[in-house]
Amino acid sequence: MKFRFLGTAAAEGFPAVFCRCQACEDARRLRGKNVRTRAQALINDDLLIDFSSDTYSHALQNRLRLDEVKYIFITHSHMDHCAMIDLQMRGGAFAHDMQEPLVTVHGNEGVQKHYESVYEGMHPLIRASYQFQSIKAYETVKAGDYEVIPLPARHMSTETPFIYVIEYQGKRIFYCLDTGYPYEEVFAFLKASGYRFDMVALDCTIVDNPCKETATHMNGELCVRVVEQLRENGNIDDETKLFVTHFSHNGNPLQERLETMFAPHGMAVAYDGLEVEI
Ligand SMILES: [Zn+2]
Ligand SMILES: [Zn+2]
Ligand SMILES: [Zn+2]
Repeated sequence: MKFRFLGTAAAEGFPAVFCRCQACEDARRLRGKNVRTRAQALINDDLLIDFSSDTYSHALQNRLRLDEVKYIFITHSHMDHCAMIDLQMRGGAFAHDMQEPLVTVHGNEGVQKHYESVYEGMHPLIRASYQFQSIKAYETVKAGDYEVIPLPARHMSTETPFIYVIEYQGKRIFYCLDTGYPYEEVFAFLKASGYRFDMVALDCTIVDNPCKETATHMNGELCVRVVEQLRENGNIDDETKLFVTHFSHNGNPLQERLETMFAPHGMAVAYDGLEVEI
């Protein structure tokens, strides 16, 4: 199973689109791993998590063939995860010789609303290459060789945002963003499941700024607590690859600074384009 972090910033990007704060100025000067785009990930070559506003640049940067994608799982309808207007470019005069005839987009009711507005604007020929699958928390979805379990995230009140457990050929990952500290019921579900994760990716938007347990994102301290809880539950062990991601400029997420912060906890810091073999 191959996992690629395509975008590792919070909604504003890093450096942020319109910002001149010191952290953003440092990122502009240093570039490299310090430049972060909006959240998205690719599993193998055919399962996309989220369709962020930076999808096109992710394809260019990582030399991706997005016509090979069969499944798209959207976490929630915030614009940095759900900006699907480019789906209208898949087919007709806009794309030739595509590998996959049909793409299934998965998401909650908020995502479906957004999908339908994009679908409305599609040429009828292009519409035929899509289907939408409405998904619900705790209900396992089969997508080819993948098994995906959406779990409720602590992130929005207007819809049920999802964090995902994704299994493929005996390997399992926990994609845990966007969310605040996961609900007790989610930890209980994972404990009861007996799942062992090969990889975990955690929402670390707030970095080392103060953050309550009831907040809708996490800081580093809460990420460390999630890891402790998963370890106590038996969901992870010393072999599990642990990552923090989805950083806001307000947390000054320069790569070197973050690596120093998380190395003592055995956690790695994701950056755009990072590929993980699981
Ligand atoms: Zn986000
Ligand atoms: Zn800034
Ligand atoms: Zn969000």
